[in-house]
Amino acid sequence: MMVEHPTLFSHLAAGLRKTREAFFTKIAWLVQQPRLDPQTLQELEEILIATDLGMPATQRLLKAIPSGITEPGELLHILEQQMTSMLSVPHESVLQGHPHVVLTLGANGVGKTTTIAKLGFRAIRQGQRVLLAGADTFRAAATEQLQVWGKRIGADVIAHQAGGDPAAVVFDALQAAQARGMDLLLIDTAGRLHTKKNLMEELKKIRRVIAQSLPGAPHETLLMLDATTGLNAAAQAREFHHAIGITGLIMTKLDGTAKGGAVVGIVDELQIPVVYVGLGEGLEDLQPFSPPAFAAALLTTAS
Ligand code: GDP
Repeated sequence: MMVEHPTLFSHLAAGLRKTREAFFTKIAWLVQQPRLDPQTLQELEEILIATDLGMPATQRLLKAIPSGITEPGELLHILEQQMTSMLSVPHESVLQGHPHVVLTLGANGVGKTTTIAKLGFRAIRQGQRVLLAGADTFRAAATEQLQVWGKRIGADVIAHQAGGDPAAVVFDALQAAQARGMDLLLIDTAGRLHTKKNLMEELKKIRRVIAQSLPGAPHETLLMLDATTGLNAAAQAREFHHAIGITGLIMTKLDGTAKGGAVVGIVDELQIPVVYVGLGEGLEDLQPFSPPAFAAALLTTAS
C-alpha cells in the first residue's frame, strides 16, 4: 500500500503492536508453508476469531479468498484488501457548521474526556477556536477533569454546578460558541446515570436542545469505545446508535490491547465508520483512522 505519512504509519503500527503480534505470531507459520491447504485455512479462521473479529466479519473476510488459491503471500494480500474494503464505510457526516458542533458519547472510563482534549488540541493546532462544554453534571469530577484539560490545551470550558441540568449547560455553551465566534464546540456528556434508560433520555434531550438552538447541529455525533473491551464494545455501540444515532466511532486505547481486530467486527456489524483511533495517553496520541493503513499495520508485516 501507499503510505503517505511514514511517521503517522509507524505511530499506528507501534500502537497496534499487541494486536499485530496476536495475528503475526500465529500467522507466521502459515506464511512459511509452501502451499495452502483446507486445514490451514481452517486454522486461519480460528486465529481471526481469537483476535476478536467475531464470526460474521471473519466469514466475510475469508469469503474473499478464491477457492484455488495456494500462495500464502497472495492470501495475505487478499485479506488486506478485503479488510480495507470492510472498514471503508462512508462517513455520512459531511455537514459543516459554524460553530461546528460535535456531541461526544461513551460509557465512563472509555477515555472520553482525554479524547475530547485530544480532539480540541488537534483543532487548536490547526488554528481553530475551540470551546468545550461539560455536560456530564452527574459526576463533579468529570467537569473538573475537563477544566484541567481545557487549561492544558488553551480552550475555555462552559460548565455548571454538579447536579445541574446538562441540557442547560449545552444551551449556554451553544450561545457562548456563537457569541464568541468559535469554530468548534466539543460537548462532553455523562457516561453513566442511575439507569441506562435515564442516560439515553438525558442524551436525547441534549440532542433536542442542540438542534433547537442551532438548526443543523449537532454536525457530528461521535461514540467513543474502549478497544480493550474487544467485541463487547459492539453491544454498547448498538445501544447508543439505536437511541441517539451515531455518525462516527472513535476507538480508544488501541495501544493497550491485542483485541484490535474488534474494530473490523464492529464496523462490519454497525456500518458506522471509525473516524479516529486513540494510540496512547498523550495529547498527540490520536490519529484520523485510515482503513488501508490499519489493514497494512495488521497484515503486511506478516508477509
Ligand atoms: P472517561 O471516564 O471516559 O472520561 O475516561 P478518561 O478520559 O478519564 O480516561 C480513562 C483512562 O484511559 C485515563 O487513564 C486515560 O489516560 C486513558 N486513556 C484514554 N485514551 C487512551 C488511549 O488511547 N490509550 C491509552 N493507553 N490510554 C488511554
